Amino acid sequence: MNYQRFFQDCLQELKDEGRYRFFANLERCASAFPHAICRKDDEEKKVVVWCANDYLGMGQHPKVIKAMTDVANRDGAGAGGTRNISGTNHYHVLLETELAELHQKEAGLIFTSGYVSNEATLSALAQNLPNCVVFSDKCNHASIIHGIRNSRAEKHVFRHNDVAHLRELLSQYPKEQAKIIVFESVYSMDGDIAPIAEFCDLADEFNALTFIDEVHAVGMYGEQGSGMCSKLGLNHRVDIIEGTLGKAFGVVGGYITSSSALIDFVRSFASGFIFTTSMPPPVAAAALASVQHLRHSNTEREQHLETVAMVKRKLTAAGIPFLPTETHIIPIIFGSASACKQASDRLLDQFGIYAQPINYPTVPRGKERLRITPSPFHTEEMIDDLVFALRSVWDSIFMDKAA
Ligand SMILES: *Cc1c(COP(=O)(O)O)cnc(C)c1O
Repeated sequence: MNYQRFFQDCLQELKDEGRYRFFANLERCASAFPHAICRKDDEEKKVVVWCANDYLGMGQHPKVIKAMTDVANRDGAGAGGTRNISGTNHYHVLLETELAELHQKEAGLIFTSGYVSNEATLSALAQNLPNCVVFSDKCNHASIIHGIRNSRAEKHVFRHNDVAHLRELLSQYPKEQAKIIVFESVYSMDGDIAPIAEFCDLADEFNALTFIDEVHAVGMYGEQGSGMCSKLGLNHRVDIIEGTLGKAFGVVGGYITSSSALIDFVRSFASGFIFTTSMPPPVAAAALASVQHLRHSNTEREQHLETVAMVKRKLTAAGIPFLPTETHIIPIIFGSASACKQASDRLLDQFGIYAQPINYPTVPRGKERLRITPSPFHTEEMIDDLVFALRSVWDSIFMDKAA
């Protein structure tokens, strides 16, 4: 086996398909979101970021930065251990209580990322519940898929948001057998929303646990930014609500909220929770400040909605096609990895606009896209620049070809 050759061949395949990942080397400017400095070769360029998941710009919020720096100065940089062995900090405890309150659940548990919270929770549950069968939406995130896979439990994938298909799969099992239904509330790539109430009805009928990934909804929707379940009045009907501290909350980390018994179980049995150094206290304090701020302030959410609406309106007026969504995510489909990469490169090089191409396996082949995510800090002028640049890039890619 020629190992190095193997790695190079695999990478060459990605390059040939146009989906090799080039990372933009960014330095975000804390006083000037959504501006960042982009470095390439020896060049420095000021760009406007249009694809961040820091949807509300909380990563630059003065309260969040202050909490992080204050606690770093007071408590130091790292937690100093796993949660069990000297690594549980006061701010972890406060954050878990705050998150439980946010989702109106009995208890909360934080993880080092949203990815880990999904992976660790689902693998612990599905592995330990006797003869557990997992029912997972076709479009679920990689962290969910890996969590289920690692549990080695029996699994069925139901068609995306398809209540009838889920019912058909559930009905093959006796009521007393353990089951988990796993889905997201807002899907990150198409920006669509799950039929949460209908899934909960099925869970009641077939005696299943429900696990929802609210990563793209927490901080954003519902009263106090408590997510889509809360907005729809369904908090109490979903057993486990999972979220991230790294997107709308603008920091990093993940969590679940649920009943006290379930949280205590995951705390006690989930490998990805137990065997890792806990979140740095300054990070926990910053996340806490962000969650608290967004519970009491609607300003960011309201401004964000206005910006999203304006982007959609101006794209429509300019005749640029995008997937119509009910949410803040605006996918513009280019339909091939190479067209998408070309568009992204031209936006950056000619217009100082950064939107990363999204390729397979994040989205299906043929659905390659730019995923535009406005924030409250994108101004009308920036939106006009974006629309102008997109129109020009779209024409140069598709009209040149047609001619
Ligand atoms: C980003 C994402 C995650 C992972 O969250 P991180 O905090 O970034 O690790 C989980 N689920 C979905 C749907 C996501 O988009």
